Amino acid sequence: MSELDIEAYGDEIVEKYRKYVNPSMAAILKFAGLDIPEKDASGVFIRDAAGNEFLDCVGGYGAFSLGHLHPKVVEAVRKQLEKEALKSHYFMSEELADLCELLASVLPGDLQYSFICNSGTEAVEGALKAARIHTGRTEFIGTINGFHGKTFGGLSVSGREIYKEPFYPLLPGCSLVPFGDADALAAAITPNTAAFIVEVVQGEGGVNVAADEYFPKVREITAERRVMLIIDEVRTGFGRTGAMFACEHYGVVPDIITMAKALGGGVMPVGAFSSNPDVWDSLFGKNPYLHSTTFGGNPLACAAAIAAINTTIEEGLVERSRILGERLLSGLREIERRRGDFVKDVRGKGLLAGVEFAMDDIAALVITGCARRNVLVAYSLNNPKVIRMEPPLIIEESQLDRAIEAVDESVAETAEMLEGVAGC
Ligand code: PLP
Repeated sequence: MSELDIEAYGDEIVEKYRKYVNPSMAAILKFAGLDIPEKDASGVFIRDAAGNEFLDCVGGYGAFSLGHLHPKVVEAVRKQLEKEALKSHYFMSEELADLCELLASVLPGDLQYSFICNSGTEAVEGALKAARIHTGRTEFIGTINGFHGKTFGGLSVSGREIYKEPFYPLLPGCSLVPFGDADALAAAITPNTAAFIVEVVQGEGGVNVAADEYFPKVREITAERRVMLIIDEVRTGFGRTGAMFACEHYGVVPDIITMAKALGGGVMPVGAFSSNPDVWDSLFGKNPYLHSTTFGGNPLACAAAIAAINTTIEEGLVERSRILGERLLSGLREIERRRGDFVKDVRGKGLLAGVEFAMDDIAALVITGCARRNVLVAYSLNNPKVIRMEPPLIIEESQLDRAIEAVDESVAETAEMLEGVAGC
């Protein structure tokens, strides 16, 4: 396509977005110069219709831990597609049984039973329901700036008003406590608290990492008060932070765990929540259909998830994430050391890293600057001062270095621009 053709093609898609998808998103994408559609992707790269290739350090916000179109996952899904795509739900499913067995073998502690759904927010809904029925209580506690999805339950326990307030009333009896403050949690628990839901590393909240003693204390408090601890590993599960599950860094086993994103191997949408036999007995003991889904746990999704977990193990990606995560953090900290006036903090675990800037606008400019250098980094929904990097765990050292260099150059360029404006 010629440059003019590409422009016309981009405008056509923007127009369809404006008319049929989301008019204000169309305006934002156009304004940001992101008006050429994505064409395809493989490994750590995404290509647009104009033939530009981008190093993907957004990683589908955790979904592309294996990169794009990992051949082992694609092959597993292709093979399954030749047999059957969706189940009748009339008979048992071998694929579902195999996936739940495999999950039990990688999940920490006594987390044994799993329910497979299609997304992270559905996993959270299931976890909240399981906590209610198991405890006979109705209230939930979440964390300020926490993120658990945008269905009613997920929103109710998430921590940013801008996404909640337009939809009030949400679930009754939900409260928020500061992330990392176990005493605040203890003080917020009431006799009607069913569960505390928390991410191990707050992702959309701006890559917030709790102190070592936080989660053991949270586990102690919740166990003592008979409150379910739901750990949301939708973003952090399957190696992202340098452990198979991030809660393992703290030696803590929750009552209920939620997963999604990387579970689908970057090929299929898959979510899940898992728990121990006691909780499962409360949820399904009297009625096996109390919680169900038409598409969740379909054979294609199971094939993808089984291949994703096996590939993560076979390719040593958990350890790779830990080692490359140190390289990423040390590269970003070097930028912080040189540009402490703009970069306020660098934090992360494994290949989930965040850079906090002095202002939202700086973060936005750095993100755009990186995109101009063909490196994609992410905005944080609940903390716009922070840019996030969540590259595929298969990224090579030289590619990671290129991404760090892009952030470095983009910070320098932004600083120069802002200093120029201030000097005017
Ligand atoms: N929980 C966490 C920790 C998340 O990061 C997200 C999405 O970013 C969700 C839940 C919701 O997942 P989904 O977008 O698949 O509904």
